[in-house]
Amino acid sequence: MTISPSKDKVMIAWGVGLFEGKGCIAFITDKYGNKYPKLILVSTDEDVLRRFRRIVGGGYISHKESANPNHKIAYRWQLQRGRDIQELLIIFMPMLGTRRKGKAREALAIKFKGNNWHSKSKIRCIRGHRFTRANTRIRSDGTRQCVACIQIRSRKSYLKKITKNMEK
Ligand SMILES: [Zn+2]
Repeated sequence: MTISPSKDKVMIAWGVGLFEGKGCIAFITDKYGNKYPKLILVSTDEDVLRRFRRIVGGGYISHKESANPNHKIAYRWQLQRGRDIQELLIIFMPMLGTRRKGKAREALAIKFKGNNWHSKSKIRCIRGHRFTRANTRIRSDGTRQCVACIQIRSRKSYLKKITKNMEK
């Protein structure tokens, strides 16, 4: 989903105000050591979050029922896609307070490519192998490939081939 915020300045201002009060720019570090931002907005009012999502044009809403029946259900709007976060923060930036402005700048400074955070910041591949010089192959488009993973894949396809031949 690509973010397409409302053109209505008043609505955008309402959204920024809500985000300033109840929103958060969180930074998550995955197991490979990549740091990436996530936008979160929490409310006990589902209609408020739905309006917010309509205005910003993206993100998804989930809810969590509390074990305590006296507690209200908490709704949560989240935005995780890098490009969407950056587009939204650029629009929100001039209206944000000092603290969130700092966090927004921090989020905008993180590089990403396509839908993913920039692979150059990754220390390890998806299987957890380290991207050392010996274990890294550069593709023609400049992205990196893990050599250990290439070997695993070719071994797997080789095994598949011989088992197939044995079945014949
Ligand atoms: Zn690997």
